[in-house]
Amino acid sequence: MKRLAKSAFLATAASMLSACYQMPGDAYRLAETRQTYASETFGEVVFSRISDDVVMHTSTLDLPGMGPVRSNGLIVIADGRSILVDTAWSDAQTRNILDYAEQVLEAPVSDAVVTHAHQDKMGGIGALKAAGITSWAHPLTNSEAVSQELLPAERTLTFDRGWAVGPSRHQLAPLAIYYPGGGHTVDNITVGIEGTNIAFGGCLIKGSDAQTLGNLSDADVRNYASSARNFGAAFPAADTILVSHSPPQGRRAIVHTIALAERL
Ligand SMILES: [Zn+2]
Repeated sequence: MKRLAKSAFLATAASMLSACYQMPGDAYRLAETRQTYASETFGEVVFSRISDDVVMHTSTLDLPGMGPVRSNGLIVIADGRSILVDTAWSDAQTRNILDYAEQVLEAPVSDAVVTHAHQDKMGGIGALKAAGITSWAHPLTNSEAVSQELLPAERTLTFDRGWAVGPSRHQLAPLAIYYPGGGHTVDNITVGIEGTNIAFGGCLIKGSDAQTLGNLSDADVRNYASSARNFGAAFPAADTILVSHSPPQGRRAIVHTIALAERL
């Protein structure tokens, strides 16, 4: 509560200083419980408070033929610093996220993890490199990045039975990073936040009202359903499920994604 109050105060102060800052209007709703999250815009990016220590960032890119597409990632605050989960689409938007963490949350981003090799998840790696922030990814993500014309992350995660182990465990705490198998892409990873009921399914998990699984051009169609099931089993206590392209969800999103994937 204290942090929220401080954040609101700083937000108000920032709005007086900068015309590019505006108070929201754009609140996200949790699909099942109708809980509304406080949101605010800073630069080009919308920030929604999910819990005291978890903020969702949302950036938008106008894709030719598709119109504006929103993409979500996370800022997880721990010990006076933040861990970033996914960049925005661009370096400029990602710079907004880094500035927000430092100036408004007062928790500068120290490390980042990106959840697969597509622009909505790692298009802003250049901004991380310029800021000296260590970035991490699945080894497949760093090899795929080159063919996707994206910069790879600096460091490669090591996995044991699906879970990230090794130095990243300490450096990215309190994230519990899990590779559920291929789905949206062969390299898609997911993230739980220890000490919370929040898990991030990235582009693997779709909103409970999604009609389709979205872009399947790089998908692992055969394993999609089992990978979505693995995600649900890896985070059995998570009841706030955050995803790339929908507002915050409940566990129904996992069930719905499995059902869509079984029809592939
Ligand atoms: Zn993707």
